Amino acid sequence: MDLFDLSGRVAIVTGGNGGIGLGMARGLSRAGAAVAVVGRNREKSREAASSLGPHAFAVEADVTRASDVRAMVAEVAGRSGRIDILVNNAGTNVRKRPEELAESEWRTVLDTNLTSAFLCSQACHPHMQAAGGGKILNNGSMMSLFATPWSPAYAASKGGMVQLTKSLATAWAADGIQVNCFLPGWIDTDLTRRAREQVPELHDRVLARTPAGRWGDLDEFQGIAVFLASRASDFVTGAVITVDGGFSASG
Ligand code: NDP
Repeated sequence: MDLFDLSGRVAIVTGGNGGIGLGMARGLSRAGAAVAVVGRNREKSREAASSLGPHAFAVEADVTRASDVRAMVAEVAGRSGRIDILVNNAGTNVRKRPEELAESEWRTVLDTNLTSAFLCSQACHPHMQAAGGGKILNNGSMMSLFATPWSPAYAASKGGMVQLTKSLATAWAADGIQVNCFLPGWIDTDLTRRAREQVPELHDRVLARTPAGRWGDLDEFQGIAVFLASRASDFVTGAVITVDGGFSASG
């Protein structure tokens, strides 16, 4: 038995059209899963799906909207007949101090990063039950553990992701569904390219604090995706796993 084989499994990756989500989608796809690449940008999702191979396809959805999430999950289930794996990865950030952050900005970040994970997990749950089990992978952050003066909404959403993970893990363990949270360190993506423009000293701070001495690459998420989506992790649930080049271990 290949512990890491995902042949015949169907995965949804929110925000799978770029960055860390694309790295996860590549890993799942290479292990044999059919991957639904979910995002708002239809063209970007189509390009990402075609780069993954014939078993991947794009689904357009804004995961902050419950109606979009329901339609997206119904489309994947209708097309593939089952849903085994959900990667809650879509995310955004508004970098402002708490006294400057508008309520609408707070809600956008919380809705995109945290409420979306709840909505997608809830919508996938009956399909995973029907398949006899499932795997949910939630994308946290170093901001699940630490904070900065310019991260009130982002850190709140990512801290919440850890507790949502533990809540779903305890609720659905009896259904054979494992729910885990991975915490990326600093990874070179569109999101952090914008951060580096906004916070000029960020690049040097990241290099100084990360024992690996570099930014992470999106393809370094293939391995954690396959592990947490496969039989190899069947007794791992409610866990919080750093993928950070040692950032969180460093003082
Ligand atoms: P990107 O900006 O490259 O990716 C963000 C993805 O989320 C895009 O695919 C985007 O697709 C999708 N997305 C955003 N909003 C929505 C929405 N409302 N509905 C559907 N999809 C949406 O950034 P990263 O790869 O860096 O970020 C991915 C995740 O990783 C986020 O949760 C982020 O917080 C987390 N993370 C990133 C770190 C890093 O260093 N890069 C560190 C720690 C965590 P589209 O625009 O088409 O909707």
